[in-house]
Amino acid sequence: ALHNSLVELKGNIRVHCRIRPFLSFDNKLDGSASQNCPTPGEVVHAADDETVLVRCALPGRPTTDKTYSFERVYGPAASQAVVFEDLRPLLISLLDGYNVCIMAYGQTGSGKSYTMLGPHSEDDPTLLSGAREDLGIIPRAAEELFRYTLWLISENPSRSPKVDVSIVEIYNNNVFDLLAKDNSTVMSGTKFQMVSTQEGRSEVPRLTCRAVTSAVEFVGLIHRGVKLRVQHPTLVHKNSSRSHLMVTATLTTASSLGSTAPQSSGASPQKKAGAGNWWITPPPASSPHAVPVDSADPPGQALARLQLVDLAGSECAAVSGVTGSALKETSFINRSLAALADVLGALSEHRDHIPYRNSKLTHLLQDSIGGDAKLLMILCVSPGQKHMAETLRGLTFGARAR
Ligand code: ADP
Repeated sequence: ALHNSLVELKGNIRVHCRIRPFLSFDNKLDGSASQNCPTPGEVVHAADDETVLVRCALPGRPTTDKTYSFERVYGPAASQAVVFEDLRPLLISLLDGYNVCIMAYGQTGSGKSYTMLGPHSEDDPTLLSGAREDLGIIPRAAEELFRYTLWLISENPSRSPKVDVSIVEIYNNNVFDLLAKDNSTVMSGTKFQMVSTQEGRSEVPRLTCRAVTSAVEFVGLIHRGVKLRVQHPTLVHKNSSRSHLMVTATLTTASSLGSTAPQSSGASPQKKAGAGNWWITPPPASSPHAVPVDSADPPGQALARLQLVDLAGSECAAVSGVTGSALKETSFINRSLAALADVLGALSEHRDHIPYRNSKLTHLLQDSIGGDAKLLMILCVSPGQKHMAETLRGLTFGARAR
């Protein structure tokens, strides 16, 4: 009964929306847009902590305001630290045995990579060399995970927590193993396989999985993976926004994880325990992902998985006006994002069959979307009039995903 009521609360999927600052290139309106746009410039605003306001100036129509609600809305002044602090309780739920996925969705240039990795420039595609306070969610989560392993050891040294990491790029529905020795093993067609382990976890047997022993080592791997994502020669694309980047960290302990998670500084998990008590919930007994919390339980391989995803740009081909190989890329991106939308739709309708296998993206995410797993989508949007059509599409997608 507990399990059913948790499912019905539909609290396992949350959407936070981040509006990036208005940048110099947002001002470059094309001719048609400036004709139709009496108020060029910044049109997307954070009305309050949970509401996005879009001031629409459509051709031949009076200016209208549209609002969209999300669990959390960040305006352009929100720091990386604030964005991370709000999702820290979600990471803590890994210690209760929940699988967790955090993904950034939005059109190219809307701030996904900034949010997930940190600031970057053309000269420095590695993204992780900025000031500490500019670091994005992925390096911060890596540090957080190792804070947890230290805490687990301090509570009970025999738990021996382990963190295994894999990093993949999904491009044109091919999976590239960014930690492979030959730098970019491609897993397409029959080379891509996923199997279920005894613990009910999905594994890609051929995928490189590296045991890491410190946050520094973890961040080093991310650094290497991200560098390869934009540099490896097998790919024709120069632009990382054409592919999905997925970092997967699996936390394993020799015995029960227990349910008394450490409190994070400044962010009490209870503070966020609103509708559905999404952030911190006791693992339902029937959950395949749940870890036994009774200390009398026999020791075993308790685990939870964290997946962090920087999705490819969500813009549609008609809007970006691309042709040739770029069009092929865009159609693969649109198909995988449509597959993601289908999975979220099937989950919200409680359908028996969830179509995870329709794309490599959703297939790889099947353990951390649905069931008792917790998904946070960070919807990134540009504030400018120039991007409004795509912004509206993104906001509608995000609002539907909840
Ligand atoms: P995407 O990954 O969605 O293509 P980027 O993360 O590359 O977008 O962001 C586009 C540009 O906007 C980059 O120059 C980035 O540094 C900048 N940017 C994005 N979000 C922010 C932010 N919150 N604060 C400052 N600059 C940002």
